[in-house]
Amino acid sequence: MTTSATEPRSDVDGDRRTASSAQVRSGRRLVAGAATLLLLVTAGVVGGGQVAQAAGTVACSATGAIDASRTAALRSDCAYDDLAVTVGTGRTVPVPDPGTTLAIGVVMAAGADELPEVSITRDDAGRVAVAVGEKIYGDPTAAQSLTADTSAPAAPQATPGCGSTTAYSKSSSTWPGALSWYLNGTSQPHPTAASTSVRWGAYSMASKYTRCGYQIKTRATSNYVGTTRYAVGVTTSGGCSTNSDGRNTVGYKALPAGVLGLTCVLYTPARAIEADIAFTTKESFYVWSGTGACKPGQYDLRTTAAHEFGHALGLGHTGANSGQIMQPSIGSCDFSTRLKGSGDAAAMAKLYPLG
Ligand SMILES: [Zn+2]
Repeated sequence: MTTSATEPRSDVDGDRRTASSAQVRSGRRLVAGAATLLLLVTAGVVGGGQVAQAAGTVACSATGAIDASRTAALRSDCAYDDLAVTVGTGRTVPVPDPGTTLAIGVVMAAGADELPEVSITRDDAGRVAVAVGEKIYGDPTAAQSLTADTSAPAAPQATPGCGSTTAYSKSSSTWPGALSWYLNGTSQPHPTAASTSVRWGAYSMASKYTRCGYQIKTRATSNYVGTTRYAVGVTTSGGCSTNSDGRNTVGYKALPAGVLGLTCVLYTPARAIEADIAFTTKESFYVWSGTGACKPGQYDLRTTAAHEFGHALGLGHTGANSGQIMQPSIGSCDFSTRLKGSGDAAAMAKLYPLG
């Protein structure tokens, strides 16, 4: 696949205030404590069948990237197998196989400009739709076929220091068994301690434990299999690699500025297929080593890993400062969301109920 360096790039941020954006937003489920940029990356259902339209056309026979601002012109008769959608400044996201969705979840360093979350779906009929932040492009039917969790949350219950039980957003796709994953240790800081921190992060999300004084009933488990030489399916532009390799691989990449971690998840409406997670090599992580304190400017790798495994397991973001693992950013040396809060716990109990 070739990506086009000459394609005009869409300014995603510049689109957020348009009327069509508001229409789209009204049709997507917002979570409690909603701030300005909230979406469930898999919540592509749009109100009244309205889909944000962008001008322009795309030649179906084109090879390489399609600019996201023009994907309204995506057609079901296009040959997508070698195509990718380009978002923002060169983030390439491959069009997935029919019947699947590819979603990108990130977590930012606090204060950094947020990299929009992206999901792209191709339905069984070959129709394609793309969600970039709050905007949706592409085929209206495909957009509506993106699964949204429309179930009404239970009445919120607040636990001191733990946030609200309604502070979550989630997909409908789950892993049928344990989330088994491999580590590609290329470029990882302080290897042993780093892998330990990542394993603890996975366990924070995929386990019964919370920091709220109670445990949840959940079948969610993660299984660290071992190291691998398989590549992490994440690109340095903040997109996803073209080919899925069937292996859930965790590793390190030089991610875009301010991005601490990024997950590419491939799934059908019912089940997850593959998740690859990258942590950035551009920021300094605090990794547990038994000695040494977190230094200003460092970010807790365990907290970052817990968040990205949340995406891998099917969770989207909460509002800012929700006190949940799935809040969209992490402060320097902030360990307060290493373990699940009330919203994280409620989401995992719903997605992966026990029995
Ligand atoms: Zn995230």
